[in-house]
Amino acid sequence: MSAIRFILVGILNTVVGLSIIYAAMYFFDFGIKSANLIGYLVGLIISFTLNKKWTFKNRDRIGSSLIRYLLVIGVAYVANLQTVIFFDSYLKISPYLAQFMGVFPYALIGYLGCKFFAFPEPADATPNSLVVVAPITSMKTRPKQLLNLSVVLPCYNEEEVLPETNSRLIELMLDMKKNGLISDNSGVYYVDDGSRDRTWELISKFNAENPCVHGIKLSRNRGHQNALLAGLFSAEGDAIVSIDADLQDDINVIKDMVCRYNDGYEIVYGVRSSRKTDTFFKRMTAQWYYRILKAVGVDLVYNHADYRLMSRRVIDCLGKFKEVNLFLRGIIPQLGFPSTVVFYERNERFAGESKYPLAKMLAFAADGVTSFSVVPLRMITWLGLFVSSASAAVVVWILLGKFVLHTAIPGWTSTVLPIYFLGGVQLLSTGILGEYLSKIYMETKQRPLYFIEEKI
Ligand code: UDP
Ligand code: MG
Repeated sequence: MSAIRFILVGILNTVVGLSIIYAAMYFFDFGIKSANLIGYLVGLIISFTLNKKWTFKNRDRIGSSLIRYLLVIGVAYVANLQTVIFFDSYLKISPYLAQFMGVFPYALIGYLGCKFFAFPEPADATPNSLVVVAPITSMKTRPKQLLNLSVVLPCYNEEEVLPETNSRLIELMLDMKKNGLISDNSGVYYVDDGSRDRTWELISKFNAENPCVHGIKLSRNRGHQNALLAGLFSAEGDAIVSIDADLQDDINVIKDMVCRYNDGYEIVYGVRSSRKTDTFFKRMTAQWYYRILKAVGVDLVYNHADYRLMSRRVIDCLGKFKEVNLFLRGIIPQLGFPSTVVFYERNERFAGESKYPLAKMLAFAADGVTSFSVVPLRMITWLGLFVSSASAAVVVWILLGKFVLHTAIPGWTSTVLPIYFLGGVQLLSTGILGEYLSKIYMETKQRPLYFIEEKI
């Protein structure tokens, strides 16, 4: 639909622009250059406004989207010029036809650029379709007995934050116990993911001070996702909340999660209401990541990390997945069950530094795609089909040029360029195949995800 609107805007823009140019020249005696300039400017304003408001229904600030729009139009214009030059002086077809051919790359680049870059869909914090907010009536209400809740925190070199995290958490648990939200045997489980600092020492100390605090020590560092799983599968309780140890997620929301659980929901996602505390870079990459995942068919809960409540039933289902590459954020929405979201503000890390450097983040992002979607594989097929049919068309064109139009066959470019291009396509495709192959390789070995060295 937006493509049709985009073309309509393009036609309108051309008509209005040309009329203005002619009017300026014939009625107001403008020179051809200034008439063109006015025509272009008016056309630009019309097309920007209409495309923004009508075609793509974009609500971003005008300034930033205008810059992006100008960039897109610039690129499209260069493509248009190059195509016209190619057809006109290279293949020597009539200038009108060449002009006409130039419209295609212009429209295509313009449209795609507007859709994905200049006026992207607003990525707001609305819960996505996979979060089934079940009507309360369809859910079984929980028996009136106090919930045995466990809170699981993976910790890797967190000695700086742990004392603060622990005292706040204990306070919260005490408060919830007092208010009759959770039972007295509810507890906290710290998973030490092979830390090299005093993390385990601290956990042991907390355990000695308070029997509600438990510790699980992994034999070595296995990464956040595996540490989390170790905690989920070791903790007791009718419901488990997983949360990072660094106090970035507001722990008070656990109360809301418990209330939702009592309403009958089996999964409660903690969703960040904004990304204000993130750097611009992290915010942009995160938004694009969700978009790309959505485009290849992986439906994640927008702005939700690993802060969530899951009931015992859900954990049991999770245990049935025997994959080595468990991408929890992708799998849990696929389990089904009545689910809902609670919103919270995410803070800066309380202390210490992020254990997710860029390289780890990229690997994690790639995992998200390749564990859930075969679209990249299918894209290779389409790419192959496209490239081969395009080259077939070019061959016809060249033969036509030689025998019918009698234009000289261009030599070097037409021979060497396809070699580089196809080389690139092939390397990319092999790379994607390799990604999946490595997944299969890891899965066939069925290696255990973690070993528990000690439990307290
Ligand atoms: N974490 C872990 N093992 C690792 C890396 C991180 O258990 O190999 C834990 C870490 O202690 C923290 C959580 O995972 O509780 C999230 O990590 P971090 O806060 O560093 O990530 P960010 O919030 O920066 O994405
Ligand atoms: Mg963090």
